[in-house]
Amino acid sequence: MSAPSPDAGSTWAVLVAAGSGERLGSDRPKAFVALGERVLLAESLERLDASPWVDAIVVAVPEGWEEAAIVLAEELVVSKVAAVVTGGATRTDSVRAALAEVPDDALVVLVHDAARPLVDDRMIERVLAPLAEGYDGVVPGLAVADTVKRVDQGVIAETIDRSVLVTVQTPQAFPAHVLRAAYEGTPDNATDCASLVERRGGRVHVVDGDPRLLKITTAADLALVESWL
Ligand code: C5P
Repeated sequence: MSAPSPDAGSTWAVLVAAGSGERLGSDRPKAFVALGERVLLAESLERLDASPWVDAIVVAVPEGWEEAAIVLAEELVVSKVAAVVTGGATRTDSVRAALAEVPDDALVVLVHDAARPLVDDRMIERVLAPLAEGYDGVVPGLAVADTVKRVDQGVIAETIDRSVLVTVQTPQAFPAHVLRAAYEGTPDNATDCASLVERRGGRVHVVDGDPRLLKITTAADLALVESWL
């Protein structure tokens, strides 16, 4: 694996792959389960590496899987992996550990879940482009098709207007200094990076998501994404 030397003002990708994936029922972490002929992590790693928009990549993996990730990067002959770090107990911890490896002169950070293997260049460009308009972040979002209820102890408390709702995916793009500020100190736990930017008053833009960026959670999700490959 050759170390990259990205220019100042570069775009760094943080690929979070340190989840346990308990709901998959596998004996190994989710990022290392089989997806087709390869492991799940291979798909997003190779796609980010091949993207002209991405200058360097930091990968966060579960403790004990660092060497496996390095070997995988060598096997895939990817050239942009700058560091493999040990993730934490939560996604927030894993992003923070990876961010520590992103150099001060990086301009933009793109955070992606390894659990969403089918990331492509069109989507990467779609989230990066609006940053030029001064947003504090850009995320892909999908309209909600079902009726959404808030439930209290098994009883519906409220029906929420779904026209104002989206479900949010990754990759999520941020100016590097904004994301760093959001992860300073001990940030609250959050299921995505945008939440932490929002909590500090950041303006996060939503672009059209892609149903094929499905996050693999169950064995059925894995089979579905396999059929799309
Ligand atoms: O758990 P969930 O599927 O929501 O995780 C989303 C992404 O965050 C996955 O790619 C997973 O590997 C990553 N993650 C992580 N560290 C954790 C938990 C999740 O890197 N402790």
